[in-house]
Amino acid sequence: MIKTVAIVGRPNVGKSTLFNKLLKKRKAIVEDFPGVTRDRHYAEVTRFLTPFLLIDTGGFEPISEDRLLIQMREQSQLAVEEADIIFHMMDVKDGLTPADIEIAKMLRQINKPVFFLVNKVDGDKQELDTVDFYSLGIDKFYPVSAEHGRGITDLIDDLEKIL
Ligand code: GDP
Ligand code: MG
Repeated sequence: MIKTVAIVGRPNVGKSTLFNKLLKKRKAIVEDFPGVTRDRHYAEVTRFLTPFLLIDTGGFEPISEDRLLIQMREQSQLAVEEADIIFHMMDVKDGLTPADIEIAKMLRQINKPVFFLVNKVDGDKQELDTVDFYSLGIDKFYPVSAEHGRGITDLIDDLEKIL
């Protein structure tokens, strides 16, 4: 059975950018769920050794603080129900935020592999700033640049081991 990978994280960290980067072309869209609360995109990624189904989560518009909390719960629920593997994306430019900590806490209760991604690590300077995230108590992070492709090979190499 093809494995499902869900990208979760608060708005603007770069989830959709990674989704599109991994996809390269958007032709493989399997299904779309329109609407505010269950907005997500599905696509089959076939560029690597083992194909997998990728889910992009989150709204596609700016949202309020209240909506943020609801969206985080929905993403976590989605991760429980539909995903085999979870990418929890954070943003080095913002550093570790309370919402990141909250999401990580929810994901800890799920017995599924979680990859912790620190996005927008476009260069060596940002690489140094990733130390912030170690206070989450996680020993393995993936510094990536969804936009420029940095770190994606390491991420996919490790993902392939469990696909
Ligand atoms: P989402 O809300 O998590 O889906 O985030 P988006 O993918 O829409 O990206 C939010 C913003 O971050 C956009 O302006 C992107 O261009 C920018 N962004 C995404 N990935 C990167 C990255 O690797 N480096 C930098 N510098 N910006 C990025
Ligand atoms: Mg998005």
